[in-house]
This record gives sequence, C-alpha cells and structure tokens, in this order.
Amino acid sequence: MTRTVYLNGQFLPEDQAKVSIFDRGYTFADAIYEVTAVIGGKLLDFPGHTARLKRSLEALGIAMPVGEDELLELHHEIVARNGLDQGLVYLQISRGAEDRNFLFSDSLTPTFSMFTQVVPLLANPKAQTGIAVLSVPDGRWANRQIKTVQLLFSSLAKMEAKKQGADDVIFVEDGLITEASSANFHIITKAGVLVTRQLSNALLHGITRGSVLGLAEKVGLAFEERAFSVEEALDADEAFITSAGAFVLPVVSIDGKAIGNGKPGERTLKLREVYIDDQVSRAIGR
Ligand code: PMP
Repeated sequence: MTRTVYLNGQFLPEDQAKVSIFDRGYTFADAIYEVTAVIGGKLLDFPGHTARLKRSLEALGIAMPVGEDELLELHHEIVARNGLDQGLVYLQISRGAEDRNFLFSDSLTPTFSMFTQVVPLLANPKAQTGIAVLSVPDGRWANRQIKTVQLLFSSLAKMEAKKQGADDVIFVEDGLITEASSANFHIITKAGVLVTRQLSNALLHGITRGSVLGLAEKVGLAFEERAFSVEEALDADEAFITSAGAFVLPVVSIDGKAIGNGKPGERTLKLREVYIDDQVSRAIGR
C-alpha cells in the first residue's frame, strides 16, 4: 500500500516525495526528528514531543517551519489520510539544502517531512517476555576513524569559529588536540620534528596525512606520531592542517595567539609544494 507522506507543505504519495541529495540532513546529519505514538488514531504525549522539537530546533538555530497549531493539525491529517489506527508518526526537519559546506547560509528553508508507520504497539509480545540487553561502551560518537556524515558538531563548531573571526577549530580532548573540524592537525617543533597525533578512533585517518608523512623525509623532516596539547602547539615553530580539500595549509594562530612568527612556516609551504607536485605528477586520469 502506498502511504501518503508529508513534504514541505504537501501531502504526496510516498514514491513522489523527493529530497535533494544536497540536503544537509543527508550530508551533515543537520536535522532533528520526533516520533509520536498513535493509538486509536489519536496522538500520545503530543505536547511533550512538540516541546522537545522546539528545544532541538532552537539549539540548532533552525526556525520552526510551522506554528504549534498547524503542527498538531498536520499530525491529525497524516493519521487520517493513512487511516492509521496504531503506529507511529515520524517527523524530521533538516536545515535545508545547499552546496556542501561545513559553513551554512542563514537563508536556508528547512526541509520538513513526515510519514506514518503501522506498528502493533499494544500487542507487543515482548511485553510478556521482557527484553534482553547487552552492555556496551557508550561510543556516541567515539568512532571518528569512520568517515560518517555525522558532521553536525563539526559544522556548528566551524560556524562558531567564523563568528569569532577564525577560519576553523581544532578539537581538544583530555587536554590533547585530536584534529581540526575537517582536517588533520600537525606541528613542526622547535627541534624541527613534524609531530602528528597517532592513529586511533579519536581522529579520522586522513589520506593526505599519510601521504604527507611519506614525503616528510624529502624535505628533511623527521616525524613522530603522538598526541600533543594546545600549549605544545603554541610553542611550536610551525603548524598546519591536511585534507583532500586543503592539501597542506598553514595554521598561524590558536585562540588569537601566534604560532612561531605568526606567518605560514617555510617547511609547511615546502611540504605543500612537494605534496602537490608529487600528487599531480602521479594523478590518475582516465
Ligand atoms: N579529519 C576530519 C575530521 C576530516 O573530515 C578530514 C577530511 N575529510 C580529514 C581529517 C582529512 O582527511 P583526508 O586527508 O582524507 O581528506
């Protein structure tokens, strides 16, 4: 059976509801959702869901696309159109669609979708038997080595950096730098050693990082893989980030304090040149 779903002001057959692949819900997990139970065609706990929805949207700086009365009416309408007796109404609001960028525009129109699911909520056999659970470490989200699209925190952090006149952030955990919002972070110490954090689940295993380390010797740099603090980075001669989009990019200050002489480092720029030359010379064409 084809359901009737809701998308941006319209009720549509489910196979006609289309969302852009540029939607930030899709590219950055920049979206919130609510799920409301329906019994006998009526909504359970609705005021609570509305209140949380408003809190979530406010926290992300996304405008409520409809007023509270209309939100309730849309829920009634989607339940009625699908003849839903028992089940769930799923609602999702994303920041909207635009070309992919960690920094987002403030002019976006949120993408607002809803659909129903038939679920026998009352006749749940597990209510008689109970459920079995496993205890696992809470890793939400401690697996940064996986290149997931769960990028909301990074995007919001980069927006905050922009607001404060900076270009990016470096994340700090337990006093040690993990990486930048979308790049790996490295320093060249006063002793002339390239120091970069060792690979673990604390950071993405950058492809550029690996290639640059492979070229370090070529520019006369020894390297060490270990974690380091902001203080050590501020005490370094040079710092830089690496990523597929930035290549090797000098970092000249942290929290307004200069690194080295506050200008792009010579060895950093040399690494940039060597990396680009090396990669371009070996670039794969058709
Ligand atoms: N860390 C994070 C969090 C990133 O998003 C990226 C870029 N995608 C990197 C590091 C750098 O990885 P790569 O060199 O493969 O682009």
